[in-house]
Amino acid sequence: MGEHIDTDGFAPLRIKRVVRETSDAVSLVLDVPRHCSGRFRYQAGQFLTLRVTVDGQELRRCYSMSSAPVEDELRITVKRDPGGLVSNWLNDTAAEGAELRAAPPEGRFLLRDNDSGIVAFAGGSGITPIMSLIRTALATSARPIRLFYANRGRDSVIFADDLARLVDGHADRLTVTQHFDEDGGVVTPAVVASVAAEAGDADYYICGPGPFMDTVESAVVSTGVPRERIHLERFQVAPVPADAMAPGGEVATEEVVIELDRKTTTAAYRAGNTLLQTARTAGLRAPSSCETGSCGTCMARIVAGSARMLNNDALDDDEVAEGWVLTCQTLPTSRTVHLVYE
Ligand SMILES: Cc1cc2nc3c(=O)[nH]c(=O)nc-3n(C[C@H](O)[C@H](O)[C@H](O)COP(=O)(O)OP(=O)(O)OC[C@H]3O[C@@H](n4cnc5c(N)ncnc54)[C@H](O)[C@@H]3O)c2cc1C
Repeated sequence: MGEHIDTDGFAPLRIKRVVRETSDAVSLVLDVPRHCSGRFRYQAGQFLTLRVTVDGQELRRCYSMSSAPVEDELRITVKRDPGGLVSNWLNDTAAEGAELRAAPPEGRFLLRDNDSGIVAFAGGSGITPIMSLIRTALATSARPIRLFYANRGRDSVIFADDLARLVDGHADRLTVTQHFDEDGGVVTPAVVASVAAEAGDADYYICGPGPFMDTVESAVVSTGVPRERIHLERFQVAPVPADAMAPGGEVATEEVVIELDRKTTTAAYRAGNTLLQTARTAGLRAPSSCETGSCGTCMARIVAGSARMLNNDALDDDEVAEGWVLTCQTLPTSRTVHLVYE
């Protein structure tokens, strides 16, 4: 294993410590080599991309930092996904001293610079970036924070002790409410709405399994919270619905013109492919990372033609109005689309 950074930006990070959080989650403290320390500086709420080889297959997965920049370490926390390749491999085999390859931190699930309260909704492994945001807000601001944390059962709560310690140390401004599905079912919109109603003017951070996020987001919106105050981090996106592939009334796309690295390529379009898949099929090394519409790494601007995004948790309204799209989540909708990576 080399010390070098390879051409697509992956650097070697050694596992400094392995912390078994619960029976199905593990934290890995990673040692960043000194020559990479600038590139691996991160903001609370960001994630890095690991590249691992499992059974001869090279795989990439994103993991959010559960540590905060104010701590003197970089830590990720990985929860087993039933049947999942990388999360189980890391939980089963990660050992002190082993080397992982990682691309530098990125992501836009960040604290906004203001004094208002923070309301965080975390479901299961979604606590990871939220833990980083909470630690940071406690250390760098006087903002009041409410965490609503949902888990299936008491034995799957990651960071139970850490949270109890934080509440002890900041009882005046951190409150944690836990929800356990085993007590009477999943989180309901009414419970979410009552948390939001008590919070008043606040920034909302939501991270967890898809159905949890859908319930929380729509319940928070229904209480009148403006969309720009709601920040989402999706670990997975729902499969593309069949009608998104062949939408009625839309013109069939024939080609996509792609400008990347000062080179222009005209790619034939295959129905159902996103703009990112189209670029890859044309042999281009287009930027990408989370592939869920969360991180913004794959953003590019449409300068001619039209397209629609299936999911967008990264771009704001002004960027969308200027033609920016997340190429991993975008289907073209005109005969020709001209796309520029800037
Ligand atoms: C921005 C971001 C941040 C993230 N942060 C974290 C984090 O902090 N902590 C964390 O634990 N996770 C995090 N994730 C999720 C993580 O990246 C992985 O998606 C997760 O660990 C599952 O990966 P896996 O390889 O174990 O599962 P995969 O092998 O990708 O499988 C995922 C699921 O799909 C099912 N599946 C796979 N193949 C098939 C098939 N052919 N048919 C049907 N079902 C199938 C599997 O059974 C499994 O349930 C994050 C994701 C993103 C995008």
